[in-house]
Amino acid sequence: MPRSPYDETVRPDLPPDFSIEGLDLREEFENFLRQHGHYIVYIRRDTNIRCRCWDFTANAPSSDKSCPRCYGTGYKVSLERHLMRKAITGSPLGLAATLQSREPGQFLTPSFIGYFKPLLRPQAGDKVVEVTWDRNTGALVRITAMYEVSTIDDKRQDGGELVFYTLWGDRESINIPAKEAQLKIDTVLVVD
Ligand SMILES: [Zn+2]
Repeated sequence: MPRSPYDETVRPDLPPDFSIEGLDLREEFENFLRQHGHYIVYIRRDTNIRCRCWDFTANAPSSDKSCPRCYGTGYKVSLERHLMRKAITGSPLGLAATLQSREPGQFLTPSFIGYFKPLLRPQAGDKVVEVTWDRNTGALVRITAMYEVSTIDDKRQDGGELVFYTLWGDRESINIPAKEAQLKIDTVLVVD
């Protein structure tokens, strides 16, 4: 049986650059996330309010990333749950740039690429935490990885309306059990 043109145009595996006349890509993207996405915790920094661990000598976040209040960001933070789709890992600038920009021995650190809804309003320096959730209660079970957002790109449809964000992140070496314990105490706002 021949496939209808419609079936061809709404495939969820269309590349991020797809553009189809007459379709609301924003709605398409949300459908795609509902079918293929999963929830992460987004750590949003309020860069107007420094954490008490701030290093005033260096005028930078403390190099000790263990601060339980700010998750090592150096700022007041809020935690949000967001639905997103993770993409293949890699670097936005390609492997060569990745190799050049890192200390010897660190270039194999896996990076993160994810697609997010416009309501995320991301900022470089915020963090994405991959977690597992309890299927029944929806409570947070454990952290599997934490990434610092390094690069943000926005995809717009004709007319300029934002369809989704692409985020790149660098994996962080963190004390997972400590951060996990803190994350379970802190309130995660459901933004979705
Ligand atoms: Zn702190």
